[in-house]
Amino acid sequence: MSPISIARAGKTLHHQWRRSPIPAMALTRYSTSAEPSHKQASPVSPRVRNLIGGEFVDSRATETIDVVNPATQEVVSQLPLTTSDEFKAAVSAAKGAFPSWRNTPITTRQRVMLKLQELIRRDADKLAMNIMTEQGKTLKDAHGDVFRGLEVVEHACGMATLQMGEFVSNVSSGIDTYSIREPLGVCAGICPFNFPAMIPLWMFPMAVTCGNTFVLKPSEKDPGASMILAELAMEAGLPNGVLNIVHGTNDTVNNICDDEDIKAISFVGSNTAGMHIYARAAAKGKRVQCNMGAKNHAIIIPDASIDATLNSLVAAGFGAAGQRCMALSVAVFVGDSKPWLEGLAERAKGLKVNAGHEPGADLGPVIGKQAKERICNLIQSGVDDGATLILDGRNIVVSGYEGGNFVGPTILADVTSNMECYKEEIFGPVLLCMQADTLEEAMDIVNKNKYGNGASIFTTSGIAARKFQNDIEAGQVGINVPIPVPLPFFSFTGSKASFAGDLNFYGKAGMQFYTQIKTVTQQWKDLPSQGVSLAMPTSQRT
Ligand code: NAD
Repeated sequence: MSPISIARAGKTLHHQWRRSPIPAMALTRYSTSAEPSHKQASPVSPRVRNLIGGEFVDSRATETIDVVNPATQEVVSQLPLTTSDEFKAAVSAAKGAFPSWRNTPITTRQRVMLKLQELIRRDADKLAMNIMTEQGKTLKDAHGDVFRGLEVVEHACGMATLQMGEFVSNVSSGIDTYSIREPLGVCAGICPFNFPAMIPLWMFPMAVTCGNTFVLKPSEKDPGASMILAELAMEAGLPNGVLNIVHGTNDTVNNICDDEDIKAISFVGSNTAGMHIYARAAAKGKRVQCNMGAKNHAIIIPDASIDATLNSLVAAGFGAAGQRCMALSVAVFVGDSKPWLEGLAERAKGLKVNAGHEPGADLGPVIGKQAKERICNLIQSGVDDGATLILDGRNIVVSGYEGGNFVGPTILADVTSNMECYKEEIFGPVLLCMQADTLEEAMDIVNKNKYGNGASIFTTSGIAARKFQNDIEAGQVGINVPIPVPLPFFSFTGSKASFAGDLNFYGKAGMQFYTQIKTVTQQWKDLPSQGVSLAMPTSQRT
């Protein structure tokens, strides 16, 4: 169930206005509306618009969702749930724009991306401020969110090289075969809340530069960054209808899965939603890529460099309040964990939990009240199952933001793999600590876990590192690197239950996902006719 209240448009919103620690001007300036803020009737709580056929249009929907600042509980904007007619109009606009866009020279499409990356840099502060307001992460971390997405846009600027086909001359006498990578048509993207800029930027820049048109559904919890990015894409010269934005939850997602004109879906989010989307869309013959949940482990060998390892564990475990799909969830210590636990707790205690814009904040709130409750319940289940609570962040009170959804860094030790807190993805600032006698035993724990997004080893032994690299069953491996997310010239290669599909996001695989291969065989020769032969043609001489 959505933690966000559903309000009727035109009626009083059921939120309490609280004294804002962010000046009203700031909210106006970084509003989520697609319309420039100075034109809005109200400086706060604007309605988020759809983008259909190049126009930012107000939805006719009567049902809206409040987009809430998780540190202050203020309503930042209202998100109307795109109606079925509006959804159809968005797909129709994308379909209409496709023939001309696919025939636009790739150099022109690349140049739009080149401009887009420049505009994202120009407006990086505005984007980061919006992310901080709607998602809660610290301003510095919000900049990281923008920057990691920007890198994919930069990658898309080189699409011509990436999208090159293959050519073999003279496959048979006077005959050549070559392959062309063609766009699919209308593609769609469904986004999670935790990276409001990066994940939309994993999707539409790659898709449209390949020549597709796109319908994007941002997370209903923080749609603002997508709206700003869409404005920038239009400013960069993306023709009308090439990028469209719709909003909503399950109904909109199901419309995307079912629509005959949508050829491919990129999804990032939880396993519940992802597997539903994968099954429903695949049944309609669509190409689907789903990046889903995770439980990322780090194995710590006693020979690891102490300071660097502890700093890495703390940063990867508690950064972004643990709401990263590559956050570190489990530390498995080989040998005695005690000396490590003391160092960990000491560092974690030193972290500042605060609203994202406050100076010195290390981690902000989690996304919603329900998320906080779920995280706290999972911590309690760990305690009830016999884990040792080394550091408890559940009762934290952040001065000035008493209503915020804060959870402080939490460390549970003596965790075993049968515990609920281990089996479930917690998605909060909670680090589970386990112990193993040998590297093999530690790897066995990791390999038995159903998820396979990322795993790291901390060691000074090359032999241990190589064994880990070869035998670990996770798609993204770190060696003395805690969050091994590859840059976009590689792909995001989660595996096992963390991914469904064949072709990953961005990199070569991203281009392959958004294109299909056509092979052409051509014959140009000036030879006397050999007469009619009904035998299967081969290149073999008989
Ligand atoms: P979520 O699954 O709740 O929502 C993601 C999207 O799916 C949203 O747009 C939402 O509207 C839609 N949705 C949710 N439930 C649905 C349902 N039952 N039917 C149809 N659509 C539905 O995920 P979230 O809470 O926004 O994001 C957190 C999750 O995303 C975590 O599990 C995290 O690990 C995962 N994630 C994975 C990656 C990755 O690359 N592997 C990256 C970021 C986040």
